[in-house]
Amino acid sequence: MPRMPQEQTTTIALALELAIEKLADIPDTIPRLEAEVLLSSLLDKPRTYLVAWPEMQLSPEQTESFISMLERRTTHEPIAYITGYREFWSLNFEVTPDTLIPRPETETLVELTLEHIPHGIPLNIADLGTGSGVIAAAIASERPQCSILATDLSPSTLRVAERNFHRLGLNNIQTALGEWCHALPPGKPFDIIISNPPYVAEGDGHLAQNGLPWEPQLALRSGDDGLDDISRIITCTPNHITSGGWLILEHGFDQGERVRSLLEQAGFSAIHTSHDLSGHDRVTAGRRE
Ligand code: GLN
Repeated sequence: MPRMPQEQTTTIALALELAIEKLADIPDTIPRLEAEVLLSSLLDKPRTYLVAWPEMQLSPEQTESFISMLERRTTHEPIAYITGYREFWSLNFEVTPDTLIPRPETETLVELTLEHIPHGIPLNIADLGTGSGVIAAAIASERPQCSILATDLSPSTLRVAERNFHRLGLNNIQTALGEWCHALPPGKPFDIIISNPPYVAEGDGHLAQNGLPWEPQLALRSGDDGLDDISRIITCTPNHITSGGWLILEHGFDQGERVRSLLEQAGFSAIHTSHDLSGHDRVTAGRRE
């Protein structure tokens, strides 16, 4: 860190100026924005506070914490893991290295799912592999009449999701530990099952980029074609969906056709795909007959 006076106090303006210099070398970032996001998270104040109080002094402890945040960021650790939070569907979520960082394209999954849940109808929904719980939480907040079961294979991940549900005051979500359908109660079918499973192919170059190496690989990688987990889910869920109920899956931009044909082979009907904001195939739904 260049010249940031560690043992004495520093003003907000000076800390930001030095941070911008430090962050300038990281590819694909807006240094001022990142510097402000990190400092406002540290101070637990909105970014407007930094602009309003440039002469405010940071304590030596705050200065030291800010330096260590910047050092983590210069190793390309994703900013969401440094601040510990990421927004999704206008809700704020705790994220940790045990969870994926929510992606904007996952809002497509929430949107398509909501289209299948009429207002006021109390459906039973399962979100398989919930991670930080963003999908379950978004649905639960939009459709408070529904009961949602959020599952994950990893106990530490499920604890993050539970903290998020609790902090957001969502009491229509329960959790269960286990892999895909193993987490589901036998003999109690759901009206809708949704999932954003791992779907990146082993050897896909983008696993090495954009902070992905910092994220849980179990939540990203899924065999040679990226379809191992999607196939498992399509195979195991028909027993757990009511007749006429839906399976709705997020997948890679180039997997739409294969996912549609896997659903067809498993006997699903009314299969349709939604596009994300970049216009790519991203979410496919099928109805269990
Ligand atoms: N959409 C994520 C990415 O491309 C992958 C998420 C997933 O595998 N479910 O980085």
